[in-house]
Amino acid sequence: MMQPQHYPTFRKRLLIRVGIIVGLALLLVVGVSWIGALNWLRIDATQFVQKEADEIASFVVRAGDILSVESYPWNEPHHMFDEARIDPLFVQILDRNKREIFATVNVDLFSEGAYPRGLVGVLPDDFSPFSSLKTQFVGPSELYFTAFPLRASDKSVLGYIQIARFLPHIQQTVRSLAFGALIGSAFMLFGLLVLIYVNAGRLLAPLHTIAKTADNLSAEQLDVRIPDLENADRESVSLALAFNRLISRLGGSFEEMKRFNSNASHQLQTPLTVLKGHIDVTLRKERTALEYRKTLQLASDETNAMVGIVRSLMQLSRLESNPSGIPKEPVCLSDVCAHVINLVDPEKSRVDAQVDPNIWILSQADLSGQLIGIFLDNAMKYDPDGVISLRLTSTAEEVILEIEDHGIGINAEELGLVRERFFRSQSVQDQRIAGEGLGLALADQIARWQGARWNIDSAVGKGSKVICHFPLLRS
Ligand code: ADP
Repeated sequence: MMQPQHYPTFRKRLLIRVGIIVGLALLLVVGVSWIGALNWLRIDATQFVQKEADEIASFVVRAGDILSVESYPWNEPHHMFDEARIDPLFVQILDRNKREIFATVNVDLFSEGAYPRGLVGVLPDDFSPFSSLKTQFVGPSELYFTAFPLRASDKSVLGYIQIARFLPHIQQTVRSLAFGALIGSAFMLFGLLVLIYVNAGRLLAPLHTIAKTADNLSAEQLDVRIPDLENADRESVSLALAFNRLISRLGGSFEEMKRFNSNASHQLQTPLTVLKGHIDVTLRKERTALEYRKTLQLASDETNAMVGIVRSLMQLSRLESNPSGIPKEPVCLSDVCAHVINLVDPEKSRVDAQVDPNIWILSQADLSGQLIGIFLDNAMKYDPDGVISLRLTSTAEEVILEIEDHGIGINAEELGLVRERFFRSQSVQDQRIAGEGLGLALADQIARWQGARWNIDSAVGKGSKVICHFPLLRS
């Protein structure tokens, strides 16, 4: 059995889910921004030295595809000095075998052997969007090295120009910023989770109210309803309303069940009491054979009535509990009608039947027969002298059965109640017309099972007309 304590609380699930999703989202944002910023820096730093390289190349690559380093003046301060404030550029020219043939004077300001004399910089062709600057410590200073090929007019490589520059501090700044953003995000996430934790309790309050109300329900106390929820969300209010509707329906069914039980026991008790009374009286003294016969006949009649009630009730419960379990087959309703008319009115003098031949529906012959039998029986019972008309016709979509009498009729207030179990109109009770009030309830269940719908038109003293529509089975 489900035990609430074996399940994680909604609050916990919310915290874990939101924590994971928001945490990952924040990590992604920080990561993407970090990579983006570093890449932008690399491109900026490379473009800066590229301009310089292009300018120098335009001097040193001479006509006739000769490398001439003397052609460039090399007298600007950033080629001569190494102080950070003038943003020095350390330039080397290398031949096509990557051996140095020239270096600016500021390269020589580094202590002996500290500066790399060969090609260490990354060539533009080797860059990818994810590669970083090629950096190297020269003494205490971190420099980034970038190299560019010097090309002849036929695009062949004449040599290389390598430019080094102090690594911009901004690179470290970005790293620190990213780290700060990471810590900030962690705090933000923590704050968010605390907020969710505190608010989840308030958000869940309506659900607690609903659960508490449900706990207080019992079969005897179905009039409890969830009160108006204050500060609730739409989903909780919908749930509360659905719950209230469910309880109303349950209450209705429960009332109906109680009424049904009392009606059923009353209906069975009456014939039993009559039966017992007659048997007791008969047994009080010796009787003649004729008297015993009369008592036995009465016992048989009462028993038949009880068997009828029990059979109807069992059929009702079968149709109600598992309608889809009762199989359907093609049934010729025209034949069923003829058969029922024969049974109900052996002389056929009172039934004016007009039955179109060969009309088929999906049903069971005995159940559809029972349905027609109930309507026809009632018509004859409540119009004992008149002619009952029965019509069976079909249209392109449906089959229509009409049974009309000109008997006592039903008044408008009672018309809506005839499908209820054990309902009998006041006038038929006053006139002591036999019946149990189960016929139309059963007819209703059979009709539903067949997918049919029916209605009754009636007026007191004028008669009643039942119209039933069945889905047609096309051949
Ligand atoms: P029963 O006929 O055994 O009383 P039903 O369920 O067949 O039970 O009918 C319920 C009630 O509906 C009847 O008691 C009667 O009051 C009313 N009723 C049904 N059919 C007719 C009819 N053709 N004419 C007048 N009243 C009818």
